[in-house]
Amino acid sequence: MIYWGAKYLRCPICGGKATGKVGIDQFYCWDCCVEYRINKEGVQIYEVAEDGSLVAFDPQNEFLL
Ligand SMILES: [Zn+2]
Repeated sequence: MIYWGAKYLRCPICGGKATGKVGIDQFYCWDCCVEYRINKEGVQIYEVAEDGSLVAFDPQNEFLL
């Protein structure tokens, strides 16, 4: 479920509020351990690798959004 507008701080994956802002349009979900970016094109989700790099998250390999 993707939330827009005033509720954009919620995680687009789990809908939880355990999120933190890490950039201008970047957020991190502590529950899912993913980083996501929200812009006018939609939501991009990244997994954070053990070395701290970001890996594009493919929801079709995990679960459907
Ligand atoms: Zn989440």
